[in-house]
Amino acid sequence: MAVIGAGVFGAWTALHLARRGKRVILLEAYGPGHSRSSSGDESRIIRMGYGKDEIYTRWSQRSLMQWKELFAATGNEGLFKNTGVLWLAAEKDPTLRATREVLTRCGVKFEEFDQPALASKCRQMRLDGISEGIYEPESGVLMARRAVAAVVAEAVRAGAEYRTVQTDAPSGAGKVRAINCTNSGESFYAEHYLFACGSWLAKLFPEILGTRIFVTRQSVFYVGVPAGDELFSPKTLPTWLIQNDECYGMPDLESRGMKIALDKHGAAIDPDTQSRIVTQEEVDEIRKYVAYRFPALKDAPIAETRVCQYENTSNGDFLMDRHPELENVWFAGGGSGHGFKHGPAAGEYLTSQLLGEAPAEPRFSLATKETVQHRAVY
Ligand SMILES: Cc1cc2nc3c(=O)[nH]c(=O)nc-3n(C[C@H](O)[C@H](O)[C@H](O)COP(=O)(O)OP(=O)(O)OC[C@H]3O[C@@H](n4cnc5c(N)ncnc54)[C@H](O)[C@@H]3O)c2cc1C
Repeated sequence: MAVIGAGVFGAWTALHLARRGKRVILLEAYGPGHSRSSSGDESRIIRMGYGKDEIYTRWSQRSLMQWKELFAATGNEGLFKNTGVLWLAAEKDPTLRATREVLTRCGVKFEEFDQPALASKCRQMRLDGISEGIYEPESGVLMARRAVAAVVAEAVRAGAEYRTVQTDAPSGAGKVRAINCTNSGESFYAEHYLFACGSWLAKLFPEILGTRIFVTRQSVFYVGVPAGDELFSPKTLPTWLIQNDECYGMPDLESRGMKIALDKHGAAIDPDTQSRIVTQEEVDEIRKYVAYRFPALKDAPIAETRVCQYENTSNGDFLMDRHPELENVWFAGGGSGHGFKHGPAAGEYLTSQLLGEAPAEPRFSLATKETVQHRAVY
């Protein structure tokens, strides 16, 4: 098997294939979790709450277990931070109600917070417009780029071969015999080729995916917290999200600052060439939000920034399916701003598809991916 792309989806697929004793080569253009990939930031949230979308709750459960097992087995326990995750919403929020039902059905531990409980849990936050919350005490944050590197190292230990090379994309119809490297001139031969190429899928397969993967610019900020202040540390502040504000954040992990980002989709960009420097407009927007929700950080410095990209599908469901004309070529991607946590379950699912062991999930099919966006999965 050849897996192209060592982001979180490709890395976990290579690991699962190797653990199954399959011969697998993982080909990655720039390096696992590199800074232009979607998996390449410092941290990503892992939560169980997904509104009514139970499939993702179940995948998160399976994934958290496997992330923790991997970290424990490889001496990387610090790559999961059990900060807890708090979903904040207005009164009678339908997504929160659906989340409560699904978490109960799936046996996920959670606590419900009313306004007084929120006021004591979130002393740092101005809670205007927020009256309910669901707190997942066992969820938290994955230290993303280092976690991907740990998965690749484990895949190699389990027997996979890893190479830093960029490949071209096959075209035509029928069975692909080999794929070629654009930089080394080598060719690689495999029974199946899985292109787990994130945002690059749209560029590699423009005729099929150019209008089905919407690549958007996303800026992330780390706000410097006051010296010696515990108010923004993981002991005090949980990871949080407010869907109504299209915003999320996490406490001051590893002293990088309080992470905060807007979840609304930014401009369409090219992942190879977009500027990784935040604009003044983006800075002004986040400063305004921080001053409103976190008054104590009104004048705090921005300690670090990242510019990344979401690789959205039309509604946020993943794309994990066969190429429509090339019988041994597969796509894996469409993480849509929420894919990282699911790496282990995605790798398991893709392994089952490549080995022809399980029925395909219709929600991940190419046929359901439309050319107009109407975001439904968060
Ligand atoms: C700002 C931001 C915040 C996010 N927050 C969260 C969160 O809190 N929780 C969460 O679960 N998810 C989150 N996500 C989503 C998550 O990070 C992505 O869905 C996930 O990382 C996608 O992984 P991937 O493997 O599909 O893609 P990528 O990580 O982009 O990996 C694709 C890889 O393919 C390689 N590649 C491409 N073309 C070629 C080629 N021709 N040859 C060889 N290699 C190639 C690339 O170099 C790259 O390394 C967030 C995303 C962003 C941008």
